[in-house]
Amino acid sequence: MGLKLYNSLSKKVEDFKPLNPSVVTMYTCGPTVYDYAHIGNWRTYTLADVMHKALKFNDYKVKYIMNLTDVGHLTGDNLGDADIGEDRLEIAAEREGRSARDIANYYIDDFLKNGEKLNIQKPAKFTRATDYIQDQIDLIKELEKKGYTYRTTDGIYFDTNKFKKYGALSGMTEESIKEGARVEPNPEKKHPADFALWKFSPTDKIRWQEWDSPWGVGFPGWHIECSAMSMKELGDTIDLHLGAEDLRMIHHQNEIAQSEAATGRQFVNYWIHGAFLLVDGGRMGKSLGNAYTLQDIESKNFDPISLRYFYMTAHYRTPLNFTWEALQNVQNSLKKLYDIVGGYKESKEAEVDERYLEKFLDALNDDINMPKAIAVLWEMLKADMDESEKIKTLFKFDEVLGLNIENYVGFEIPQKVLDLVKVRQEYRKVGIWDKADLIRREISQLGYVVDDTGNGYKVKRKI
Ligand SMILES: [Zn+2]
Ligand SMILES: [Zn+2]
Repeated sequence: MGLKLYNSLSKKVEDFKPLNPSVVTMYTCGPTVYDYAHIGNWRTYTLADVMHKALKFNDYKVKYIMNLTDVGHLTGDNLGDADIGEDRLEIAAEREGRSARDIANYYIDDFLKNGEKLNIQKPAKFTRATDYIQDQIDLIKELEKKGYTYRTTDGIYFDTNKFKKYGALSGMTEESIKEGARVEPNPEKKHPADFALWKFSPTDKIRWQEWDSPWGVGFPGWHIECSAMSMKELGDTIDLHLGAEDLRMIHHQNEIAQSEAATGRQFVNYWIHGAFLLVDGGRMGKSLGNAYTLQDIESKNFDPISLRYFYMTAHYRTPLNFTWEALQNVQNSLKKLYDIVGGYKESKEAEVDERYLEKFLDALNDDINMPKAIAVLWEMLKADMDESEKIKTLFKFDEVLGLNIENYVGFEIPQKVLDLVKVRQEYRKVGIWDKADLIRREISQLGYVVDDTGNGYKVKRKI
């Protein structure tokens, strides 16, 4: 069975047929880098990673881009109108007393570091909005030339009434957009759905980030960056565009409008949207104090990989409810898995079990059904099969699952290593770091690594 995906555009499960069978193009709407990503965000980025890996598992080459929003994402987005309010990067700069550029660099670093902990494979490129200002200006110029723009006192706007297909993705009408916004519509907009392509800098304040443009000094609207960067890096039409469910109604609708109005071609063939993460059965939010970060997860002694596993316990289109208890249950399952494979012995001659491999692939190809894929894993562990074949097959599965299974197979730490680890801990306790480092090197020479975790350490085989 080939890959089948639910396309938010057609609202149907479709056979996946890439434009160019040898290279699939994929774009994911990435984070706005003004704060730490929370576990709701990570659910989306883990979905994107699983999709990326599932495509490769299907032997596709993938050209994958994720953007980093470091300008233009305004606070009004929370109220249903992303064209009002303040730039999140500018607010964070005020809050933390450093430049917007510094803020972005800091949170990008944090994002990459934490992504690694979740075994999220890096895209071919991370595109930063501020590195593509000229491309965004060029795209707005093209839209202006084709008559899709108009000017108000605060910026250049896209005239949605001129784009006949507006609303095809969201199914939203002018009326529902008006109702969805919790603020009064900007009276200068011709239609409530119109959105800013370029915003003028305020006259009473100097922004950290602003640029010259044919229309005046200012900064790009939030939506235009994804159109400009996707088309520049991947072409006018791409195969897959991923994002969280809350981007579908407005952000993605606007991406389609800008791109297709400019090129006259379809922007994206398959739109993939990940469902929300709930916390304790309710909404998650910074103001509610439950927008947990990966740091919160680790400080409660959870392995980030447990969180990755937790995400895969639900289908990506189903809302998933996070509780600490649920995460504990998942971590117990993961530990059980590690214990089982810890008792397995590898053999070089062993081969992948084709039957289970196919079952696993079928689950992936059934619209990335990870609960089903994980069920296949547990079924295989119980099957009457050679251990070494199970290992080989598990390693294959783990190319997508990303559970670090390889670190735990046939894992018996030699006594000598354990002794060294103990001595190293003693040195660390009293702060004799150079000695502790020397021992770490010795352990490494024996083929093992010690990872220092929040409250202790973990010994792993070096891969
Ligand atoms: Zn997007
Ligand atoms: Zn986007």
